[in-house]
Amino acid sequence: MTRSQPPIVIVGAGMAGLACATWLHRAGRPVLVLDAADAVGGRVRTDRTPDGFRLDRGFQVLLTDYPEARRIFDYGALDLRAFRSGAVIRLPNGSETTLQNPLQRPLAAFSALASPIGTLADKLRILSLVRHVQRHTPAELLARPATDTLTFLRRYGWSEAMIDNFFRPFFGGVFLDRGLGTASNFFEFVFQQFVRGQAAVPALGMQQLPEQLAARLPAGTVRLNAPVEALDGPGVRLASGETLAAAAVVLALDGPALARLLPAAGAPGAVVAGRLTTNTYFVAEGHSPGRGDGLLRLNAAPNALAHNVSFPADVAPAYAPAGQALVSVSTHGDTGLSEAALAGHLHEELIAWFGPNARQWRHLRSYRIAHALPAYPAGRPAQGPLKLADGLYRCGDWAAYPSLNAALATGREVAEMLVRSA
Ligand SMILES: Cc1cc2nc3c(=O)[nH]c(=O)nc-3n(C[C@H](O)[C@H](O)[C@H](O)COP(=O)(O)OP(=O)(O)OC[C@H]3O[C@@H](n4cnc5c(N)ncnc54)[C@H](O)[C@@H]3O)c2cc1C
Repeated sequence: MTRSQPPIVIVGAGMAGLACATWLHRAGRPVLVLDAADAVGGRVRTDRTPDGFRLDRGFQVLLTDYPEARRIFDYGALDLRAFRSGAVIRLPNGSETTLQNPLQRPLAAFSALASPIGTLADKLRILSLVRHVQRHTPAELLARPATDTLTFLRRYGWSEAMIDNFFRPFFGGVFLDRGLGTASNFFEFVFQQFVRGQAAVPALGMQQLPEQLAARLPAGTVRLNAPVEALDGPGVRLASGETLAAAAVVLALDGPALARLLPAAGAPGAVVAGRLTTNTYFVAEGHSPGRGDGLLRLNAAPNALAHNVSFPADVAPAYAPAGQALVSVSTHGDTGLSEAALAGHLHEELIAWFGPNARQWRHLRSYRIAHALPAYPAGRPAQGPLKLADGLYRCGDWAAYPSLNAALATGREVAEMLVRSA
């Protein structure tokens, strides 16, 4: 890259920044990606522990039908491992009920169940919603008029039991919002994605997603440990004091980071609140407590802290060394507890849930992610403006809706805008 031809500088090597870099590189544009962190991925990171576990920083999955993911990833190389469609739901009275393919084969899935999960009319409504979302494209669903999801579900006619025992634990886990205050058009989009695709993780952990994109860029394109402190004319200034000229700057940041970099500009949507989640990992010796069924465990008990539980090594064995099982527990929202206190509470709940063997489980690590997702209440546009000023753009889920699909889509759209403007 010569002085006369500065690259497009992308600040942030999360999914949005890497998607933007991918499409720009494919269009032959020189690009430089800067990130403050020590690896690519942003909110999609996987840590390897010395004893051989792979810990995603927060339980998260790729929904395989995401249109943007299908465009950009080589699924075969990712060696995707899918969770079984469905869930084991722990009801408030402590009993469990298993739903296989609830959205793909709703009548079969719900028909074996007794009333706690819903009435016959509830089951038929699932079928009706499946038909409705199948008639639309993802973009059409995201553009539909919205209320909050809880109001949408009630208006649709579902019983409170169905909402509390199925929708709240299932979609509350996706939104990190058990109150279901998230916009209903986003619910319709996510519902469609579960109908059409699978929930999967790469065999070696979620960070393989950003790593795949970064590996396709020319050597030297991504600079890590390079926090950007300020915009500097047509370029950026790093915290180290180094300045870099840019043909254009793309801010591929989460909302709080964008607000720090552009405090005065008040970039649209930057100050949207974030949703917090805590992911607590335990280790169980011997056979998996998940019995290898590949199903998520969802907790419908209203005051529980263990909101959902998964056994990642049951679907992707490289997540745990042989002979040990990994237990991943998610707690949404701020409990006000310290990490140790939360782990202690969760352990007691897990013993009550999975039986006395769970006493032997050992707490491995906790991740508290303050801004895991942007809040997405009704009334927000599915996408805010991506061009902030001449030569200055933004992308990422904070500019749109809380999903990997949004991060990838906005990254591509900014790349296309830059290519068109060249
Ligand atoms: C726990 C959890 C569960 C999730 N579950 C799902 C799920 O199941 N399905 C789904 O579709 N989505 C899920 N998501 C959302 C998904 O991970 C995000 O939508 C997506 O990763 C956002 O990517 P991004 O590039 O927009 O932002 P980020 O990943 O936040 O990237 C921003 C990057 O900017 C860097 N940065 C910040 N400040 C600076 C600076 N000053 N200088 C340089 N670099 C800087 C950061 O280090 C980071 O790498 C989940 C997220 C979390 C955290």
